[in-house]
Amino acid sequence: MSTLDNVIADLVVANRILAREDVVDAYGHISLRHPDNPRHFFISRSVSPELVERDDIVELGLDGQPVHEEKRPLYLERFIHAAILEARPDIHAVVHAHAEDILPFGIAQATPLRPVIHSGSFIGANVPVWDIADKFGDTNVLVTNMAQGRDLAKKLGKNAVALMRGHGFASAGRSMIEVVRLSVYLPRNARALMRAKMLGGKIKYLSKGEIDARNAGYSPYSNETWRAWEYWANKAGVGDLLTRPDGGTIYKPGHDHKHDHKHDH
Ligand SMILES: [Zn+2]
Repeated sequence: MSTLDNVIADLVVANRILAREDVVDAYGHISLRHPDNPRHFFISRSVSPELVERDDIVELGLDGQPVHEEKRPLYLERFIHAAILEARPDIHAVVHAHAEDILPFGIAQATPLRPVIHSGSFIGANVPVWDIADKFGDTNVLVTNMAQGRDLAKKLGKNAVALMRGHGFASAGRSMIEVVRLSVYLPRNARALMRAKMLGGKIKYLSKGEIDARNAGYSPYSNETWRAWEYWANKAGVGDLLTRPDGGTIYKPGHDHKHDHKHDH
């Protein structure tokens, strides 16, 4: 398979993982910048992430419009991806979703969403809240054009995640594994924080030093990162689509590892 085939397979895997982990449902999407053309990105046509196949992946420009002729409907909110990829050359993958557990933190201003668990460190020390009404007044609360997308990207700034008031979140990663990982742990971190609030007393957030220590030495194909990707892909039933650019080993589900020693060379 070519690199581009692998990239598209990875994007299918990412869609299925986000669906299986309840980050997205019928709505929500993930995009990936074109590896050879930073002005283009890949995203599914308008279909639920759980159902995404290779042929559903379309190539868009940073204006949110299709590069090739496309008659199938596209996601209305594709401008979120276009605007963030436009504003952040360091970012290669974007997720937008409506995960329920994060919603209260975009609505109530008293408790900021910040990392409270080790796996939540990836969301970063600061999670800004973007309110579409601040600039655009009464809308249908969806991001349906570049002006709205750019305003959201501006609020996101250099952070990894922005909450969208009364709507969901947008997250940005240097790789697809990174953005999927942080998007999976974002609602879990929100849930832990919400439950801790119910227990009462002072909330102890991860310190800046702890967050920095967790994020130091990031590598998209480190054993620890790959372990999660491989686990999630197999759980989502797409382990057969896995590719590993660094040439590392991929676990094959159903293989009987107990007898491996008999076949050692
Ligand atoms: Zn949305």
